[in-house]
Amino acid sequence: MNSPRIASPFPLTRSADRDVSVHESADAPSVLFVDQSGQLGGAEFSMLPLAEVCAARAKVVLLSDGPFRTRLEALGVTVDVIGNARVSGIGRQSLRLGWFRALPGIVRQVHAVAAEAKRFDVLFLNTQKALVIGALGKPLHRRPVIWHLHDIMSPEHFGFVQRLVVKWLVRLAVDRVVANSHASAQSLALLTGRVADLPPVVHNGIDTDAFNVAGRLNAADVVALRQRLGLPEHAWLAGLFSRLAPWKGQHVAIAALARVPDAHLVLVGAALFGEDDYVRHLHELAAQFGVSERVHFMGFRDDMAAWMKAMDVVLHTSTDAEPFGRVIVEGMAAGRPVIATAAGGVIEIVRHLRNGWLVEPGNVEALAGAMRTLRASPHLAQRLADKAQADAQRDFSLGTYVRKMIAAIADTVH
Ligand code: UDP
Repeated sequence: MNSPRIASPFPLTRSADRDVSVHESADAPSVLFVDQSGQLGGAEFSMLPLAEVCAARAKVVLLSDGPFRTRLEALGVTVDVIGNARVSGIGRQSLRLGWFRALPGIVRQVHAVAAEAKRFDVLFLNTQKALVIGALGKPLHRRPVIWHLHDIMSPEHFGFVQRLVVKWLVRLAVDRVVANSHASAQSLALLTGRVADLPPVVHNGIDTDAFNVAGRLNAADVVALRQRLGLPEHAWLAGLFSRLAPWKGQHVAIAALARVPDAHLVLVGAALFGEDDYVRHLHELAAQFGVSERVHFMGFRDDMAAWMKAMDVVLHTSTDAEPFGRVIVEGMAAGRPVIATAAGGVIEIVRHLRNGWLVEPGNVEALAGAMRTLRASPHLAQRLADKAQADAQRDFSLGTYVRKMIAAIADTVH
């Protein structure tokens, strides 16, 4: 691993870094992690290795239950669920009423998290509701607070009240923010009015080796893999690996597919936050375009490396600026050519026609054109994929990510 070494008071586990061993220190701070979701989204995947590394001196509080808890527990992490349906029900664009109705639940959660936090050296808040609950309780727990920002805090993404609450909590009760991209960092600086004082950025890291465990596949390997996954063996496959949500742009991919004859679209991911209407809409759209036979809804899957390897191209189609986009890095690490929308953190990962292909968000013809070109030019596709894989290994290693985050947690305490 060619990543810079950052002194860490924590031991790194095998999954965090296969090649580096860091000695455990008696000064390692104890950490209370808080995350609002029991579901597995990008923020939760990025917290898993941190909680694992800190497991001996840490606990995770989840504000709702779900598969995230099982994953954490499987890694030896202690988890408590302090759920409240009204608080969980507050959406991204919630108006005052949502917050108002949830108030008693918020007060209970603030007290419960503050009581836990007193037993730890530092509070690590991983999501916005976790920020609200953990930071509001600061007068009770008086512990240093670090917030891992995974969002672009713009009006396109979040409602006025939510942004106001975040602005003042960050100003008054957060000791350190770490952003997952420069795009996220800048959006927060604009919100808080501290543009001269950008939060530090640590890009997500992924286990790049795990995404390339099978190495380069020959044609027979791809056929066998597609058979195992129940995919068409000989079609040209475009894979989109995201939860099903309007801003993730699956509708754009279906519309583009209609302009790429005979290609198939594989949608891996589920509606994690109740977007059932959107899922129905996607099925109707595929029928309207006459491509139902060529769109494969596969639901949430665990083995992303295998699914990505089975594709000819990996798509990212978010219509709003993506805060980071782990799936892009994963596609690159799997050695697949990636077509992604040029907004937010994505342009910190993909360089057009160097290590991938950037298209304008929401532009159906641009996406279809990129797909047609990469299908017609396997050499170009391979060149982009090779460069992408090298860049992912160099710039987005899990070990570097974990070391930087652990250093930020430790610095928050001192
Ligand atoms: N993911 C998964 N199974 C699925 C769909 C997605 O494990 O069926 C994972 C994916 O590998 C990635 C994460 O979910 O690590 C999504 O992160 P990303 O940053 O792309 O999007 P977010 O969920 O944060 O909006």
